[in-house]
This record gives sequence, structure tokens and C-alpha cells, in this order.
Amino acid sequence: MYIVSRCLLGENCKYNGMNNYEEQVVIFLKNKSYVSVCPEMEGGLSCPRSPAELVEDRVIDRDGLDVTKEFHQGAVRSLKLAREMALCRGEDIELAITKANSPSCGCGQIYDGSFSGRLRQGDGCFVRLLKENNIPVITEKEIVDDKL
Ligand code: SF4
Repeated sequence: MYIVSRCLLGENCKYNGMNNYEEQVVIFLKNKSYVSVCPEMEGGLSCPRSPAELVEDRVIDRDGLDVTKEFHQGAVRSLKLAREMALCRGEDIELAITKANSPSCGCGQIYDGSFSGRLRQGDGCFVRLLKENNIPVITEKEIVDDKL
């Protein structure tokens, strides 16, 4: 079973009330078993919401509010949800396909905390948790670039 960032499937769960629909991801997942999650909404944040970025080990939104707890809770809940779904289907979690650069779902590169669009090396909160649990992660970029 695959885990996928919900916004990639076209659901409006992004901070600005929009989505990050990626047709190639939808095509890739056709006839495959998957569960979609939005860790930020699982953490109780609203949609739309103020954008947030990782500043060292904290997650701070553009209004200066510390939303670290919500991001961490959302990551834990999303993984739990995926595990329960996998158990229910009698499957293993093979891979997660997550949204590049996001403070939750980014893998390898994330926004640098300056809200300027600049990137730095690192993983989002959810991806960090997935990796700690030995779940391989790629972003939609690898699917689009056909690097699988
Ligand atoms: S990148 Fe992750 S947390 Fe952000 S909207 Fe998409 S699924 Fe939700």
C-alpha cells in the first residue's frame, strides 16, 4: 500500500485553501492500493491557514504562532491512520509519495523558514517520522521525472 499527500490528488487541504493536483501521481496510483493523508489537517489546523515553515526544530507560521505541536500530532495521526488502513487490508506500506518542499511532506528539501521561497536541506515533520519508521519516501517530482 502507498501513502500519498492528499493535496497531490486535488483535495483542497493546502494552507491557502487550494491543492497541489499532480496528474502523474493520479495516473501512477491508478489500480494501486493507497491511502491519502494531510498531516496538517490531521493535526487540527484549519483550511485555509497561515503558511508555516520549519525554523530549526520548531514550526512557526507567518503570524509568528508556534504550531509545532499541531504538526507533530498530525504526523503521528497520519502514520497511525495509514498503518490501520494497511492492517485492515492485510498489506504492508511500500512507499510514501509526498509533496515536495512542504514543512510536513517535503523530502530532502524544505522551505528555509524565511517565507521567501528559499529552500534548505531537510525533511518535513511527517516525512521525518516516516523515515524513522523505515518507510521509503519520494516526492511527486520523482514520479513526474519518471525516476521510479
Ligand atoms: S503538503 Fe502535506 S500537509 Fe501540506 S496540504 Fe499537502 S498533504 Fe497537507
